[in-house]
Amino acid sequence: MIPPSVPDSPFTRERSHWLRVFTIFFPIVFLASTACAEPLAVEEVAEGVFVHTGSHQDTDRENHGDIANIGFVVGDRGVAVVDTGGTARLGQRLREAVRSVTDLPILYVINTHVHPDHIFGNIAFAGDEPEYIGHVQLPRQMAARGDYYLARLNEFIGERQAEGTKVVLPTRTVAIGKPVELDIGGRVLILIAYPQAHTNNDLTVMDLKTGILWAGDLVFMERIPSVDGSIFGWKKVLERLREMKITKVIPGHGPASAPWPVAQDAQSRYFDVLIEGIRPIIQRGGTIPEAVAVVGKGEADKWALFDDYNPGNVTKTFTELEWE
Ligand SMILES: [Zn+2]
Repeated sequence: MIPPSVPDSPFTRERSHWLRVFTIFFPIVFLASTACAEPLAVEEVAEGVFVHTGSHQDTDRENHGDIANIGFVVGDRGVAVVDTGGTARLGQRLREAVRSVTDLPILYVINTHVHPDHIFGNIAFAGDEPEYIGHVQLPRQMAARGDYYLARLNEFIGERQAEGTKVVLPTRTVAIGKPVELDIGGRVLILIAYPQAHTNNDLTVMDLKTGILWAGDLVFMERIPSVDGSIFGWKKVLERLREMKITKVIPGHGPASAPWPVAQDAQSRYFDVLIEGIRPIIQRGGTIPEAVAVVGKGEADKWALFDDYNPGNVTKTFTELEWE
């Protein structure tokens, strides 16, 4: 249909000129900026399973939010990305890493939970029109926390490095007790959503072909775990994971992959230290600051970022135990 003609005024001429300039140059500038993205270094931990390891730091101006383990699985039909990094830029670099391995379409972008170091690269895959998949609680958590996470990101790494980063919600969710199967051609991925553990929206990805489990932050190694959900819930989920047939895990933080179930030994020990340290303090009517001052100290040299997260973990566990 031909649109009704618009009277030709200097304003519309001016506007159409800029519209033309914009439509010609914007895609060039955008493509140039994405094409320049240097591929993230990835390691093939099993056939077709690629992992990029983040550093054991909090997001800052040096690491640009590259602090979590993220990656992808390649099937015969297409690619599933698992977590996307802490910024749009990191997402672009992960996408370049995919492209350095295969030209197959990116069918799925899966988020293991809401934490910003795992989700903020989502936007880089928008042009691929994948299904974005997460736990049934993920959309609500992303909506509730997204603006806060974005403000903090800008504060921690500066606006230039954070540029383009925004929250991209799942287009499909996984309910607790209803695993989802994704066939990416020659291999099937099983997505499982868990009750409250590290967060209230933890999801794992099992690659049936290799028996590898993308554990997200249900498994921390080397870097101290942070309890944002429930320590007792988390212990229960680990019990369940120990029963599963898993060859190796890809932890959310730690090495690219590790044998199972020994990968969770240190974390389970730390949880028990917290619970057993805090329980007697509560029984004698002690306070949270008293507990923070003493509990877990024997773990200090066993974990990166211990001083940053142990106080919060003690506080969280204390409040859970008070209700015991
Ligand atoms: Zn996390």
